[in-house]
Amino acid sequence: MPGYSVHTLIIGAGPAGLACATALAQAGVEVVVLERLARVGCKPCAGGIPATSLDPALPPELLEGSFNRQRVVTESQDFRLQATGPMICTIDREKLGEWMQRRAEAVGVKVLCGVRAREIRGRTLFSEGGDFNFRYLVGADGSKSLVRRHLGLGLQLAGIGITYQIPGRFPEMEWHLSPRRFGNGYAWLFPHRDTASVGVYAYRGGLRSQILHDQLRSWAAGRGLNLESSRPRASLVSFDYRGARFGNILLAGDAAGLASGLTGEGIAAALYSGHAAARAILGGDNQPPELNHLLRRHILHRRLATFTAGRPLFSRAVSETLALALRCRLLDHEALELLKPNRH
Ligand SMILES: Cc1cc2nc3c(=O)[nH]c(=O)nc-3n(C[C@H](O)[C@H](O)[C@H](O)COP(=O)(O)OP(=O)(O)OC[C@H]3O[C@@H](n4cnc5c(N)ncnc54)[C@H](O)[C@@H]3O)c2cc1C
Repeated sequence: MPGYSVHTLIIGAGPAGLACATALAQAGVEVVVLERLARVGCKPCAGGIPATSLDPALPPELLEGSFNRQRVVTESQDFRLQATGPMICTIDREKLGEWMQRRAEAVGVKVLCGVRAREIRGRTLFSEGGDFNFRYLVGADGSKSLVRRHLGLGLQLAGIGITYQIPGRFPEMEWHLSPRRFGNGYAWLFPHRDTASVGVYAYRGGLRSQILHDQLRSWAAGRGLNLESSRPRASLVSFDYRGARFGNILLAGDAAGLASGLTGEGIAAALYSGHAAARAILGGDNQPPELNHLLRRHILHRRLATFTAGRPLFSRAVSETLALALRCRLLDHEALELLKPNRH
């Protein structure tokens, strides 16, 4: 049976896939997005996003929290980073997903939920919802990307993130860096409106995920945070970038391995690289130069994450030095972010 022919087929309705789809449809391109889950946005995530990376069109009521102060705790420092305006915000991934889906559909994108992509052969994709012939294929299908596997790209460099969403109101955002407990990763408390994400991230080459989870639970108990009322959710975060453009197949977001190896943050990079993939499709053959800044920061974060993994003394030296530099304002918090302000 002949498949459905579409100009651009996108696998995955996360931030990368929906950002790419919207940008293409706004330029008049026919786009179909396949999402294996019944609803978009159900991703385990703490929802932290630098204020400078927020989409200006995002309705303010979608923000869960907005912070001009962050508490940073290391093994020998405990201080607050303060700014005059918001440094970082929190969002609910389901609400962000619903909003991005509505926005994409409003400009003509077809989002097919509950449809898992299964196999790619030539210019045809086989899915549970039928076969699709595509001119361009965008893999925005997260860290365990089928499209990435089809391209023969392995997944060596990934972190593990574990989060609990607990009820309660919490006044400030907290980052806890302790190589003794979390290797070269960190635990966090990110307040949302009436809940908070309490979780941990670390490069999986450093600590086993079960040990990381146990450390999170023991740290949270010591910090007086009750995790019992909620269930843990975990996922890989890929920072194994090997390229974004492979002929008529493009990768974006975690599928391209563009999250930060150091912090595990990947929403902003997903949005940005989704736009970049759209620009590459619209503009012809070259990788958009805008990716260069993101890649420079990405490589720095990757080096720091892999260099300190399994080396507590180096981890400690790096975390204490970065914390001291932030505290003494030798380093601006934006210097650690993957993207230049307002670049997507
Ligand atoms: C516990 C945890 C906390 C995190 N906290 C933060 C944070 O605070 N801030 C931050 O910036 N980042 C955070 N991240 C990372 C962030 O969630 C990811 O970097 C981001 O979601 C990447 O977006 P994406 O669109 O590339 O992929 P995803 O959001 O993973 O979306 C991929 C989509 O593809 C779909 N899919 C996969 N395979 C198929 C298939 N075969 N067929 C059809 N659909 C498919 C999936 O269902 C999914 O909806 C966290 C990650 C974890 C695990």
